[in-house]
Amino acid sequence: MPGVDDPKTVTAALDMAGLDALIAALAERGYRVIGPMVADDAVVYDEIASSADLPAGVGDEQDGGRYRLRARGDGALFGYTVAPQGWKRLLHPPRQKMFAARRQDGGFAILPPEPAAAPMAFLGVRACELAAIGIQSRVFGDEAAGDPGYRGRLARSFVVAVECAEAGGTCFCASMGTGPQVEAGFDIRLVELAGHDRHVFLADAGSAKGAEMLSGLNAPPAPEADRAEARRRVSAAAGAMGRTMPAATARRLGEHAEHRRWADIGKRCLSCGNCTMVCPTCFCTTVEDVTDLKGEHAERWRTWDSCFSIDFSYIHGGAIRNEVRSRYRQWITHKLSAWHEQFGTSGCVGCGRCITWCPVGIDITEEVQAIHADGKGR
Ligand code: SF4
Ligand code: SF4
Repeated sequence: MPGVDDPKTVTAALDMAGLDALIAALAERGYRVIGPMVADDAVVYDEIASSADLPAGVGDEQDGGRYRLRARGDGALFGYTVAPQGWKRLLHPPRQKMFAARRQDGGFAILPPEPAAAPMAFLGVRACELAAIGIQSRVFGDEAAGDPGYRGRLARSFVVAVECAEAGGTCFCASMGTGPQVEAGFDIRLVELAGHDRHVFLADAGSAKGAEMLSGLNAPPAPEADRAEARRRVSAAAGAMGRTMPAATARRLGEHAEHRRWADIGKRCLSCGNCTMVCPTCFCTTVEDVTDLKGEHAERWRTWDSCFSIDFSYIHGGAIRNEVRSRYRQWITHKLSAWHEQFGTSGCVGCGRCITWCPVGIDITEEVQAIHADGKGR
């Protein structure tokens, strides 16, 4: 994929007015522009109107069970790493109405579906998050068993990716091969260079609609010195990650179903499901039917579910994963091992969210390394 690492590609240099022109152009084309902002002491992805809504000078500190915002001391707009909730919330909503029906002529009539929402433009998608969108596209892409709603939302969206110039405290995308370089799946890719004397965004296109959008902004080409600095910063971020996933051995987790480490994790894990809620690839759902008191109107809703809930493994008569260790083993073994057989890829992109948002700081990289270091460990 061409970009700032390809000397033949013309990379544009957007200043702050250029970034605002991009946001305005997306809105003019009918996109609901979603970007990062600060709310409730966290970075969240929500609707923005201009660069003034972005988290200027905000960084984050992330570690096992710990998340704090910090002042960076510069005006960087994309100086945090990943937000607690990823883009999954927008493409695969936590709660979604499947259909509604009303009683009619002794039976039920299915009501017409609600009109599709406005297409979305995502501003600030990280490399690991793009990889996660690609993985969920495989899950939902199956014609027979997939989700046409997901496919439609993604097909109508516009993706502005931003490469990470710094590694987050719990990131390990470099060892998963999913970042921090953004290589595919974007319409426009940005690298932010924020300093005391200047603030620019190097921009290049990854699709025809991205190229058309960029050419309309009439931004000047980026000088080679800026391109080299962007390459240096992204490469430094790749080398600064404090965690590593042994991806090849993680794939063999299924060989360790009886390892004693599962019992140890079971004592620490609260089975709260946080890790599955923040994971950008977890996709499991359940279905609820609701009716009004008279039974005249009924709706079917799909909501996120978690393999950490006791009901998730309920099969006529009882749950088959009664112990917490079984639920953790199911989650991590599916994600890192069985996912390969099912979808041809790992289910983990190394975003680190499950480590940051685990209330007791259970670290997926540490658990895999401990299990493999200890062999079968029975
Ligand atoms: S398993 Fe953890 S690190 Fe991997 S993609 Fe999910 S939340 Fe991110
Ligand atoms: S591993 Fe952590 S986040 Fe996941 S269910 Fe257990 S306690 Fe909750």
